[in-house]
Amino acid sequence: MGKISVGILGATGMVGQTLVRLLEKHKWFEVTELAASDRSSGKSYGEIMKGRWSISPEMPKYAEEMVIKECNPDLRCDVVLSALDSSVALEIENKFAKAGYAVSSNAKNHRMENDVPLLIPEINPDHLALIDMQRKKRGWKGFIVTDPNCSTIHMCIALKPLFDSFGLERISVTTMQAASGAGYPGVPSLDIIDNVIPFISDEEDKLENEPLKIFGSISGSGVINAGFRVSASCNRVPVRYGHTESISVKLSRKTDREEVIATLKKFSPLSGMGLPSAPRRSVVYSEVENRPQARFDALVEGGMASVVGRLRKCNVLDYKFTVLGHNLIRGAAGAALLNAELLKVKGYI
Ligand code: NAP
Repeated sequence: MGKISVGILGATGMVGQTLVRLLEKHKWFEVTELAASDRSSGKSYGEIMKGRWSISPEMPKYAEEMVIKECNPDLRCDVVLSALDSSVALEIENKFAKAGYAVSSNAKNHRMENDVPLLIPEINPDHLALIDMQRKKRGWKGFIVTDPNCSTIHMCIALKPLFDSFGLERISVTTMQAASGAGYPGVPSLDIIDNVIPFISDEEDKLENEPLKIFGSISGSGVINAGFRVSASCNRVPVRYGHTESISVKLSRKTDREEVIATLKKFSPLSGMGLPSAPRRSVVYSEVENRPQARFDALVEGGMASVVGRLRKCNVLDYKFTVLGHNLIRGAAGAALLNAELLKVKGYI
């Protein structure tokens, strides 16, 4: 059987180059198009990315000679993975979906629209039902699915087993987010070296609202949000890759520490589904008292898992713990890719 052809929009950015790498030798998908802005189009990917490729020692050979196109819906591919800057993603993704492409996006623009799945395969694969609603409402041949914000994804993966087993009432989260989360060139080096910046534009709003949709239930008119509340404080820290999050939770049912840890450890809802990019374990629990750490643990399960540790009693809510996750892999590119794999398995592409 031939492979499914894939185009990457925003292929020159941090998330775009991570997609270029993750799609090298993919079992089901083949990259046939790379696209970006008119600053890059018309030139070869190798030429544009010289001095800019930064996520691995070398860029994959297959991409070097490919000529970057503009983001117009005349690309030779069935699926587009979008890593576009949010200032342009809305309009461009709409055009692609209208023209019949399946769009799996990393951008924030469509996430909270009521007929667009905000998808994490471990949590809400049933939200794919929104695709039919979306096509009907908008008259589109194609469709858009989105992945959540990079910190939201890892927090939600860690919360899912607790939500299922004990119920969630309140969540307080403080993030320490890597510099690569701001894209390329991102935060100026003189701002971030030897510093912590206690503000990331729009980020707290995403962490407080996206989980309510992700854990929500499907109704005839869209998603009914989950009933818990989230309070978030977000910080940018001088780390290259890997967002760390300190989380406290109030659960609906009383439990003990051992049961919470056992519940986290056995969470592996994707095993047996055959998705090529799925982690074996979506949550990896570390028993080491000073882990997880971004430097050592961001690439656990190839960067596709959320690493949890330090689970202990909280004097204000019930339990608190640390979550670490790779922002560019499971927090972005790997999430959009996994969503595309789920779309294939469920017959949408
Ligand atoms: P980035 O490094 O700034 O890359 C942005 C990409 O958008 C580049 O390929 C750029 O192409 C392209 N672009 C900009 N203006 C364009 C235009 N007018 N027309 C077409 N393409 C245009 O950003 P990033 O960090 O990769 O993030 C990409 C998306 O993923 C954003 O929406 C971001 O919010 C989201 N996201 C990022 C992370 C992360 O950890 N970095 C995590 C989750 C989600 P040129 O090179 O040609 O300008």
